[in-house]
Amino acid sequence: MLKKFIQSLRSPLRRSKHPRSTPEILGNSQHAMRRTQISRNAINVVERLQKAGYQAYLVGGCVRDLLLGLEPKDFDVATSATPEQVRAEFRNARVIGRRFKLVHVHFGREIIEVATFRANHPQGDDDEDSNQASRNESGRILRDNVYGSLEDDAQRRDLTINALYYDPATERVLDYAQGVKDIDNQQIRLIGDPTQRYQEDPVRMLRAVRFAAKLGFSIEKHSAEPIHHLAHLLRDIPSARLFEEVLKLFLSGYGERTFDLLVEYDLLAPLFPASAAALKRDPEYTENLIGLALANTDKRIAEGRPVTPAFLFAAMLWPALPARVAQLQERGMLPIPAMQEAAQSLITEQCQRTAIPKRFSMPIREIWDMQERLPRRQGKRADLLLENPRFRAGYDFLLLREDAGEELDGLGDWWTDYQDANDSERRSMIRDLVAKDDAPDAPRKRRRGGSRRKRGPKTEGASPAGE
Ligand code: ATP
Ligand code: MG
Repeated sequence: MLKKFIQSLRSPLRRSKHPRSTPEILGNSQHAMRRTQISRNAINVVERLQKAGYQAYLVGGCVRDLLLGLEPKDFDVATSATPEQVRAEFRNARVIGRRFKLVHVHFGREIIEVATFRANHPQGDDDEDSNQASRNESGRILRDNVYGSLEDDAQRRDLTINALYYDPATERVLDYAQGVKDIDNQQIRLIGDPTQRYQEDPVRMLRAVRFAAKLGFSIEKHSAEPIHHLAHLLRDIPSARLFEEVLKLFLSGYGERTFDLLVEYDLLAPLFPASAAALKRDPEYTENLIGLALANTDKRIAEGRPVTPAFLFAAMLWPALPARVAQLQERGMLPIPAMQEAAQSLITEQCQRTAIPKRFSMPIREIWDMQERLPRRQGKRADLLLENPRFRAGYDFLLLREDAGEELDGLGDWWTDYQDANDSERRSMIRDLVAKDDAPDAPRKRRRGGSRRKRGPKTEGASPAGE
């Protein structure tokens, strides 16, 4: 009994189960954040709200990133003012959202997002007015629109490192959940009881992984452990929200590391069931292809070049295609219709998990269709393909497949040469092709696929096709 009591005192959950109502306060000499690093517009919003008598702070990712010496993606503000009160203070403000309202204050291209302090719905506290439960049977919060105090607001945030508030007037950082300590120790830690917080909103599991990958942090043991058991809860999340989350996971510049963590925590299967099955069936090729696609995407983002969700999804799902095509062919379907049918069913199924908008699903099909057309080069076909607006994406994808270890008889090199060749060289390349096809036992160039970790990527990665 006594032992249990002492253990409970030592438990790392203890500090978060009993939330602090007084924050740790860091004065401006105790942290590295400087006003000059902060968007002028964000400071103006905070100061304006404070002048009007409300509490207002910079909060979340921007404080976390500035403390880490990173450039914030955007600046979020938390305030005691209601959305209507915020809107009344600014001419350039718009209230958005229905489930919970936020205010967007527009300054040219920059948008400062202003959220009213909110509180957690206590468990079992259902909305008496509407007679509706605020949670479903697995504990997921269905409505999250209860306003609260600054202390409440800190406790309902996801990670300790995301619950930091900065007051530009005093240049102080308010830390309600020991987030600064976790930043120092490079730890991702849920606020409160991790299991309950994941049950309330399973997307928090993806957020934990995303920030671990982005910041190079590890997920603290008690926050990591429940993920394996709860990953399946993501199946209940609306597919449109998961599509948005997948883009953040893979198109924020740390996709390769994020993918490895998703696999490690069993989070890939609820997002991409067919890809997870392919990873089991054919681990080396699947890991190579997806890993290379993500490494190239990360590189493009680092270089400030555009990326498209279509190329990403085309790569994520490609390793799942062959087994489906084979199945349909076994049932007597010819190769090309089998491929068409497999592609269609794969995308339709994936949309049930992550609602892929048509403007992306069409180019996925086109990138895949190109893979069927690129080997057929005789006559005028090669030149027609070169003029096709999807050629570049299709060609990049072809190189990706070869780099991942597919044996395609030097097709990628052929297309690389063809693009560089002049007219007469091109004609001769096409003639050689016919001659080679006619020759008995034409020698086949064999190449062995290597590990993505060892081989440098050749492809351009996510190409700007589509967007
Ligand atoms: P970044 O914008 O760099 O991706 P961020 O931390 O600002 O990181 P946002 O998605 O912009 O992430 O969310 C802003 C803040 O809102 C977070 O820092 C966190 O405090 C809170 N938040 C976001 N999503 C959740 C969630 N699902 N549960 C609880 N709090 C959340
Ligand atoms: Mg943000």
